[in-house]
Amino acid sequence: MKLLEGKTALVTGASRGIGRAIALRYAEQGANVAFTYLSSVEKGEALVAELEAFGVKAVGYRSDAADFAAATELVDGIVKEFGSLDIIVNNAGITRDGLLMRMSEEDWDQIMRVNLKSVFNVVKAATRTLMKQRSGSIINMSSVIGVVGNAGQANYAASKAGIIGFTKSVAIELGSRGVRSNAIAPGFIQTDMTDELSDKVKAEIEAKIPMKTLGEGNDIADACVFLGSDMSKYITGQVLQVDGGMFT
Ligand code: NAP
Repeated sequence: MKLLEGKTALVTGASRGIGRAIALRYAEQGANVAFTYLSSVEKGEALVAELEAFGVKAVGYRSDAADFAAATELVDGIVKEFGSLDIIVNNAGITRDGLLMRMSEEDWDQIMRVNLKSVFNVVKAATRTLMKQRSGSIINMSSVIGVVGNAGQANYAASKAGIIGFTKSVAIELGSRGVRSNAIAPGFIQTDMTDELSDKVKAEIEAKIPMKTLGEGNDIADACVFLGSDMSKYITGQVLQVDGGMFT
């Protein structure tokens, strides 16, 4: 049996990396998938066909996660097109790393807009729909860096810690309506984001991970299947670390 049969999912930032892995896993598990991207137009368009190959409905939207009005338009469009919205994965995210001494106001603001405000934008836009249907699973992509902090990532860590506070608050506010809200905190996962790290830094990171390897997109996607499915129907307000044991 497919775990997400008949459900409609929105995955933000799915043209590459973790979001792409989530969208594909969701389609494999029978979910109809709406997804967003910003600049990777060709990759976004190609993903539609890959998702449809699983026999589900798929629509890609070019939509800036940081834009509040765009998020409202996006969610309204999905509900109209798909007829429901059952799972939301707020995955879109970026880094603008640098030590605090050198971090510009723009580096801070851009991270807050794309990583944190984006989560508010989509959840706010979808709340009425989710409350009315008295069901829904919201999954917000945090990071272990939001839990433990990291030199050179004060802006990123703050945005990812903010996501955790937001996730828990939404869980408390919407629990009585059958809407769940959880966060996933990935460790180091092989994507374009971590490809920026040198081989030396990657080797140092791997040495610190009890499982001695970086994670894959599918490791996060599988956690998203669980949190999106009814198998986790009594789990809300939690942060699931998927990090090979790096921060226990
Ligand atoms: P990635 O490979 O860089 O992919 C980022 C995705 O987000 C792309 O699809 C990108 O679309 C999209 N995106 C970026 N800005 C956007 C915007 N303003 N509006 C809409 N979409 C936007 O990143 P990733 O490694 O897969 O990371 C995905 C999420 O996991 C992020 O939230 C990240 O912080 C989190 N995370 C990653 C790791 C890791 O080790 N990789 C660890 C912890 C947490 P375009 O292709 O169109 O630019």
